[in-house]
Amino acid sequence: MATIFSRIIQGEIPCYKIAEDERFFAFLDINPLAKGHTLVVPKKEVDYIFQLGDEELGQMMVFAKKVAQAIEKALPCKRIGVAVIGLEVPHAHIHLVPITTEGDLDFKKPHLKLTPEEFLAVQDKITKMF
Ligand code: AMP
Repeated sequence: MATIFSRIIQGEIPCYKIAEDERFFAFLDINPLAKGHTLVVPKKEVDYIFQLGDEELGQMMVFAKKVAQAIEKALPCKRIGVAVIGLEVPHAHIHLVPITTEGDLDFKKPHLKLTPEEFLAVQDKITKMF
């Protein structure tokens, strides 16, 4: 069965899309640690990021870099934190989270509850930066 992220990529499940190319897809995390928290996923269904081949992993990081640069321009932050957790969804993904302090990347802290309007505003700000 297709993973939830494959279903998002195929357009079966809605998302707030940030960017896409032939191999990778980026969209806002629905349960964000901060405004702009974005997931970067390969279109190919691979469970865990370190199961990707060397070349694909490199390409994924280059794609993530472009997305991170757009987030950084769009939203106030000091850095874009990068994390791989992968305990919930068995489809490789990188979390990109705008951060100002180390604690902003603590996945145990309360997550934000954004309205659809807030998600759309964040999506709009980031996508304008490409
Ligand atoms: P993990 O696999 O532990 O890295 O966590 C999966 C991440 O995917 C979590 O941060 C979820 O909030 C996020 N997530 C799960 N379902 C969706 C969805 N339908 N749209 C956007 N983000 C999602």
